[in-house]
Amino acid sequence: MSSAQPASETPRKYQLLIDGQWMDAESGKTFETPNPATGKTLAEVAEADKADVDKAVAAARRAFEGKWSKMSARDRGRLLYKLSQLIESKSQELAALETADNGKPIRESAYVDLPQVAENFEYFAGFATKIEGETIPVPGQMFNYTLREPLGVCGQIIPWNFPLLMAAWKLAPALAAGNTVVLKPAEQTPVTAMELGKLIQEAGFPDGVVNIVPGFGETAGAALASHPGIDKIAFTGSTEVGKMIAHAAADNLTRVSLELGGKAPNIVFADANIEQAVSGAMMGIFFNQGQVCCAGSRLFLEESVKDEFLERFKERAGRIKVGDPMDKGTQMGPQVSSEQLGRIKGYVDIARGEGATVFVGGECPQLEGDFQNGYFFQPTIFSEVKNEMRVAQEEIFGPVVSVITFRDEDDLIRQANETLYGLSAGIWTQDITRAHRFAREIKAGTVWINTFNMFNAASPFGGYKQSGYGREMGKHALEMYTQVKSVWVDLSGKPIGWFGK
Ligand code: NAP
Ligand code: MG
Repeated sequence: MSSAQPASETPRKYQLLIDGQWMDAESGKTFETPNPATGKTLAEVAEADKADVDKAVAAARRAFEGKWSKMSARDRGRLLYKLSQLIESKSQELAALETADNGKPIRESAYVDLPQVAENFEYFAGFATKIEGETIPVPGQMFNYTLREPLGVCGQIIPWNFPLLMAAWKLAPALAAGNTVVLKPAEQTPVTAMELGKLIQEAGFPDGVVNIVPGFGETAGAALASHPGIDKIAFTGSTEVGKMIAHAAADNLTRVSLELGGKAPNIVFADANIEQAVSGAMMGIFFNQGQVCCAGSRLFLEESVKDEFLERFKERAGRIKVGDPMDKGTQMGPQVSSEQLGRIKGYVDIARGEGATVFVGGECPQLEGDFQNGYFFQPTIFSEVKNEMRVAQEEIFGPVVSVITFRDEDDLIRQANETLYGLSAGIWTQDITRAHRFAREIKAGTVWINTFNMFNAASPFGGYKQSGYGREMGKHALEMYTQVKSVWVDLSGKPIGWFGK
């Protein structure tokens, strides 16, 4: 039996990365991160709290005022490019660690997460030398130009669903623009961020440019978000914690960007290529065990196609291979934690109580050996769901999809937009005018037409409504990590005449 972690392996150990040094937490405390496939301890990690965050922010400030701001844009870009190459050279090892810490199938960490991590650092490496100001056509004998400058020290708090990829989305644009960073990974999945820290050092980034402080949200995270010494806080996670971050940052008027939850509509019209749409529904909800902020968790089916679609969807969902995430054939691994598993089970009860039908799944699968203690859940489809039900309105963050029917386009748009969230949406139809009409009418930051869960480092991603604000990736990400200075120069050489001579 293969396993994400051989029984004999002793837990790995990680310290904090502050000012280019690996160190214990001031308190001496550590925490354990389990392998969610088995429940066994994967690593023991130093637990940062306020005192360590203070040190990390001070180190990031010194690095910002010192070597980093004096480095040429070209050299910054070269460091980022070197890092992308180091990640590529270690991608198999990093993918295995990501799977061991998070539980996602190895075919996802190896073929989706890791390539995109390297891609993001490579993409932003190229941007370091292309961040430019403008000249402004002001009247008179005046010259006005802008400088696009870094913000300074950026706090970055990331979740556990794509641990290394979320670190890349945050770090790459911040560093390309010339900022320094204090990064707090999620307590559930700190391991690959710490491995990334080693590669950042190997690439040759100056000490203090990237500081990594694993720890808990309520302590290390809260200390970072409320820290008066940071110039920006970037957060990805739940809408509930996003609001806490915004409150904490408000006292210092720290800039905030938030990438929060979603409850994306994934919409199938009767004229869609049904085989393609079924594969899109699968991708929408079962990828990464449904732990995706843009998951297609509300599946809207046009009434006339409902029965045919559900029959095929059920058959395909029933064939998903759930089990050892290190096995290359596995399509779904465990959920990230027992808390998340408990949350999903709770929503199954809520759905039944609200009158929805558990059409497929709804239970933990029976697995053998070490995997009996893993946090596995079956691919689950609720049918007979109404858009107002809690299971259609609240983010479940598991392999659980709610099927809702609609009559016509107007009915569909109304229901699709009836949500607090607005991160993404998918539509399946052969009618191109309808598809583009929908793209305009839906209130969401990303729209997928006859596809789902597509990403590229060059394409912006972010939310409408309570899914947050700011755009990650693409040139838009640089707007979140730079500020504009306007410089005026008199070219006439004459005194200002306003008050006479
Ligand atoms: P979460 O609490 O929002 O965690 C996200 C990050 O915020 C983690 O690094 C967390 O640290 C940190 N954090 C928590 N409380 C904080 C605070 N008071 N101040 C500063 N930072 C804080 O998410 P979760 O509890 O892990 O998951 C709960 C739900 O959030 C999920 O079921 C899902 O609905 C949603 N979620 C969304 C995304 C997304 O990509 N949009 C990602 C993950 C979860 P610790 O982990 O160390 O506590
Ligand atoms: Mg948490």
